[in-house]
Amino acid sequence: MEKKRVLITGAAGFLGSHLCDRFINEGYYVIGMDNLITGDLQNIEHLFRLENFEFYHHDVSNYVHVPGKLDYVLHFASPASPIDYLKIPIQTLKVGSLGTHNLLGLSKAKGARMLIASTSEIYGDPSVNPQPEEYWGNVNPVGPRGVYDEAKRFQEAMTMAYHTFHGLETRIVRIFNTYGPRMRLNDGRVLPAFIGQALRGEDLTVFGDGSQTRSFCYVDDLIEGIYRLLLSDYAQPVNIGNPDEITIRQFGEEIIKLTGTTQKLVTKELPVDDPKQRRPDITKAREILGWEPKVSRAEGLKITYEYFKSLPKEALFNREHKDFTTYNR
Ligand code: UDP
Repeated sequence: MEKKRVLITGAAGFLGSHLCDRFINEGYYVIGMDNLITGDLQNIEHLFRLENFEFYHHDVSNYVHVPGKLDYVLHFASPASPIDYLKIPIQTLKVGSLGTHNLLGLSKAKGARMLIASTSEIYGDPSVNPQPEEYWGNVNPVGPRGVYDEAKRFQEAMTMAYHTFHGLETRIVRIFNTYGPRMRLNDGRVLPAFIGQALRGEDLTVFGDGSQTRSFCYVDDLIEGIYRLLLSDYAQPVNIGNPDEITIRQFGEEIIKLTGTTQKLVTKELPVDDPKQRRPDITKAREILGWEPKVSRAEGLKITYEYFKSLPKEALFNREHKDFTTYNR
């Protein structure tokens, strides 16, 4: 039988690369696409020698052409850390809006089912906790996170419109904080920040008083949830994340314990519009997909710490964020 063909955008990124692995393991023909602004080819280097993998270096904000049939399109291309949105705000808006439109058009032309990576950020700084899919959010469109939040909200609206107007088969996953191997060490997110600081022998920087909460999901659990959602027949948004909620201060203490560092927690200014609480309500994922997270934070953090320890020392001390100056067009 001919292999099913799947296009994964953002293939060289953290989640995209794990998705490529998963679909290869399931026997699919995988076409990875990435413009490599925030992605890293090292994440998928091991796939290039395979017969059922190919890679296109392309920015999906421009017209996307893929020869041959496509069964599935998974749109995971986007900057996804607050530091990245600040540095490449226009690209962030474009990939969520124009990129999504191009891929919806491609999916329609190919008769493919399309899954988009949405985010808990569409809930903004939520006034209800945990957040069910029915909650509409509390988002500041003109704050620093607005470029990401609004692009993702537009992305959901556009995807729903293709579903209702064109009858396109679509899936929407709302991804909550996820961690694991292949996260970028210097992307500013709290987990690589804390582990990087511990490995360099620096104090761990807690933003604000550290009472804000997050709920961290291990990457393998997330990928399983996405895989099930894609193959389900449910077109409304579904939260995928781990409801095990923790304050950032407690999280810092866990990292201190895990790494055995003798450094301490220090306080830094809280970024603008930093959500005070975040925890997924995963009732829908449980009921519709029969999914729930399996990996505890203790297990997941151990694996992730081993990964960061295995990176070359240069990576650890290279604080330079990529030079994004030419990308804000
Ligand atoms: N944070 C922190 N220290 C850091 C980096 C982040 O205290 O060095 C906090 C940040 O203010 C936020 C939480 O950790 O409250 C999670 O931040 P992250 O950027 O990982 O993701 P977010 O969930 O805010 O998108």
